[in-house]
Amino acid sequence: MKLHEFQAKEIFARYGIPVQPGVVIERPEEIDRLEIPYPVVLKAQVLVGGRGKAGGIKLAADPVEAKAKAAQILGMDIKGERVRRLLVVQAADIGVEYYLAFTVDRAARRLVCVASAAGGIDIEDVARTAPEKIVKLHVDPCTGFQPFHGRGIAKRLGFGGKALLQFAGIASALARLCAEMDAELAEINPLAAAAGDGTLLAIDAKLIIDDNATFRHEGLPRNEELTALEAAARAADLSYVELDGDVAIIGNGAGLVMSTLDMIAHFGGRPANFLDVGGGATTENMAQAMEIVLRKPGVRALFINIFGGITRCDDIARAIAAQPPRVPMVVRLTGTNEAEGRAILEAAKIHAYVEPEPAAREAVRLARA
Ligand code: GDP
Ligand code: MN
Repeated sequence: MKLHEFQAKEIFARYGIPVQPGVVIERPEEIDRLEIPYPVVLKAQVLVGGRGKAGGIKLAADPVEAKAKAAQILGMDIKGERVRRLLVVQAADIGVEYYLAFTVDRAARRLVCVASAAGGIDIEDVARTAPEKIVKLHVDPCTGFQPFHGRGIAKRLGFGGKALLQFAGIASALARLCAEMDAELAEINPLAAAAGDGTLLAIDAKLIIDDNATFRHEGLPRNEELTALEAAARAADLSYVELDGDVAIIGNGAGLVMSTLDMIAHFGGRPANFLDVGGGATTENMAQAMEIVLRKPGVRALFINIFGGITRCDDIARAIAAQPPRVPMVVRLTGTNEAEGRAILEAAKIHAYVEPEPAAREAVRLARA
């Protein structure tokens, strides 16, 4: 389960990790009764990263500006998530931005500390363009993360003196937090050194708790992690999962959908999302399914893979023929009432494959084109 920044920061603060005190608001008018010194930073509380780039983080010099900017951010759509809450904090004067995180390295079967002096930006970008700027240290589960580990990492990042010790202290606290909270990821990006005296401050906080362990932690928030589209799908009784590629996928049955994802990956494509219309899907279910998967930004092709059993090919075909998608589409249709389904599609000049492999290959090609 992902925590919002303000929720993660409450936990960080309990572990002695320095964060800016803040207030969560839901309406711009609430700015008036805040007692935070200006300038302030307004931060959209959504469970997706890159809020800054998306316009969800804004600086405001006075209450008038803060109210106007709060009105802009509240209600904004960030990567499919609507902003309902803002965290307002006193703006920090930032010098250098560092990166510090603990996460589970499944292959190594232990926690790994990842740190970098190139913080503030996406760590995946740093890993790609300047991997030498990333320091990694696996945590031996028998000894745990020791103070000298933190000091060693701090040295490698270029810290000295008091800042070195402060960094090591924060690293130890984050290691303890990660282990005790059963976190899959505990991340500070950026961990900022103040422009003046270099005091470190966790500007951002990301915390993902292992779903299997939430029962061990009382008082954890219950975050609904559904994106807007996932919520729309659930309301329509369809199971939909969001990914980050560009091929939208609709299938019927979990097994078929999983193998469809594998096929797309096999041919070099990346699924944008997938939706299982399930057994016995009606024309209306299918129409809703198409509507939902295509609403995701960045979709470049639609792959519909239907093996009619209880679901009838003609019901599916009627929905497809009635609603030509905004992106290139590939249909694979076979099984119950296949002939009727094909006739409906042919009348709408839509070709349907019988075999899934060539269809998947074509979907990947279309997404690339
Ligand atoms: P993210 O974009 O979702 O990762 O949100 P962050 O909380 O990391 O904020 C994005 C960026 O906004 C940071 O990397 C900072 O450069 C900037 N920022 C956030 N809070 C402050 C602040 O208090 N002072 C200053 N100067 N910049 C800030
Ligand atoms: Mn950040």
